[in-house]
Order: sequence, then C-alpha cells, then structure tokens
Amino acid sequence: MKKYKAVFFDWDGTAVMSRKAPVEEAVKAMGPLLDEGIRLAVISGTTIENIAGGRIEAYFTEKQLENLYLGLGRGAYNYAFKEGKPYCFQDRIPEEETLLDIHRICFDIHLELKERYGFDTDIVFSRPNYCKIDLMVGNGRGDNLFLQESELELLKKSMAEHGMDGGLKLLMELAERIGKKYGIVVVPTCDAKYLEVGISSKSDNADVIFGRIQEETEIKPEECAYWGDEYVGIEDGIFGSDSFMHTPVTAAGDFFDVSEIRSEARPDWVRVVGGGVEGFLEFLRGQRR
Ligand SMILES: [Mg+2]
Repeated sequence: MKKYKAVFFDWDGTAVMSRKAPVEEAVKAMGPLLDEGIRLAVISGTTIENIAGGRIEAYFTEKQLENLYLGLGRGAYNYAFKEGKPYCFQDRIPEEETLLDIHRICFDIHLELKERYGFDTDIVFSRPNYCKIDLMVGNGRGDNLFLQESELELLKKSMAEHGMDGGLKLLMELAERIGKKYGIVVVPTCDAKYLEVGISSKSDNADVIFGRIQEETEIKPEECAYWGDEYVGIEDGIFGSDSFMHTPVTAAGDFFDVSEIRSEARPDWVRVVGGGVEGFLEFLRGQRR
C-alpha cells in the first residue's frame, strides 16, 4: 500500500464500531503515525463530545496532537489542538434565523410526507446546524450508528408501500424545493435511516482541514487518503455522507470504502477494500514508516 502523508477518516463505523465501543485500538494505531508527522483528520458527522467520550486529547501527547485535526458536525466545526487542548479554528454555524428556517424546512418535509403519502417521520432538531429526519421510525439502530445493508431494502419497501415513486431522489428534491421556499440552498444527505438537512456537509470539513494542512505543510492533494464506511449510493447519483469528502479540492487523493455492503452504486473514484473497522485499522498500522 502507498504511504500517505495525511489520512482523513470517518469515525463511527470506520475507526470505531460504535460510540460506546472502546477506542483503544483506534488510538493505538493513530499514535505512531502522529509521532512520524503524518497528519490525521477525523471527519465525522457527530460533535466533539461523541469522539472518544469527548476526551480524545487524553489519548495522545501534546506533540502528537499537533498533527491531529477534527472536522465535525457535518461541516460545522473544525478543530486543531494547542497545548494539548482542542480549539475550533473555523466553524459554519448558521445564524439563529437560518437555523430556525432549517427547522421549518424539516417540519414542512415531515408535513408533506405525512399529508401526501401517510408516511411517518420523526425529527431530531437539537443539532447545531442541521436536522435529522428519521425515515424508519419503527426501526432503531441500537448503538451501531452506521448504515446497515438491510436498511436500504426496508426503506425502499416502505416507500413503495406508501406510493412514494421516485425513491430517495424524491426526498432529496423535496428537501431542495422546500429549502428554496425559505431562500436556503440546503445540502440534503440520506443514509437510508436518516434524511439530514443542513447547509454544510463533510465537504466543508475536508476542504477547510485540507486548506489548513496546506498552509502548514508541503503535503500535496495526491498524498492524502480518505477513508469511510458510507460511500454507498442508495440510488443512482445519490451517494453516502463519506462521499462528500471528495471535492474539487481533494479529488486528487485516494478514497477507500471499508463497508461490506455489496452494492454497485458507488462513485467510480472510490476503492472498495471492505474489512470494516479492522480493515481501516490494519491500513493505519501498515502506514508506519
Ligand atoms: Mg460512518
């Protein structure tokens, strides 16, 4: 395997099995690379309290932390570390008015799905810059927060039963259309269980942290690797949240998918390596110089 100078990676389902799973294996694989000056960037939809119990800095030395970044909240927060403590060097938190409009957009999506198709949803409003619309209200994920293969089939079946022709595209277009009504360009993503509606995505995290690394080092776009477990598309042209790490700025890097889901619907620039969390940690261990 090629040796990379920077590795961007998803957290839940890629570096750890779940938020409650032990992080020891992940941090053990990261430490030696940070020592060698390899830049590591966690790119996760969650917020800092959910990364290693909100104390990832406790697992590394001050020196190691200088090479670690966190891009969190699907574009909302970008952290580096100073004197062993995380600090947010860039954020994309909407003004309160915009955030309230995002809430209104999601409530309108809920109403339209309910009125037109009799399709039930629940909405999680408490995120700093987006809402999560639960499309499978009867179907919990437990502690494993990542996409599971059976969910795709369940959601398609449920939508068909409610006469929602047009599949996932219908949901994305609905979000965009209602967004426009409020004068907001929304960035909707869907991973089968949740339709997430906000104004930023992992693209913003990848671009901002890549830009930061470029200011600090000579690392080139093609010396970066991007790992995730949610590249899979649910339908033609609709890809998972990790596919958002691929942007005009990062496109020259190498993209890897550890997901075991056997679906053809992936972007053509991603390499499917499978192996889940262990597959990714094996890659990290193999990156030691
Ligand atoms: Mg994931």
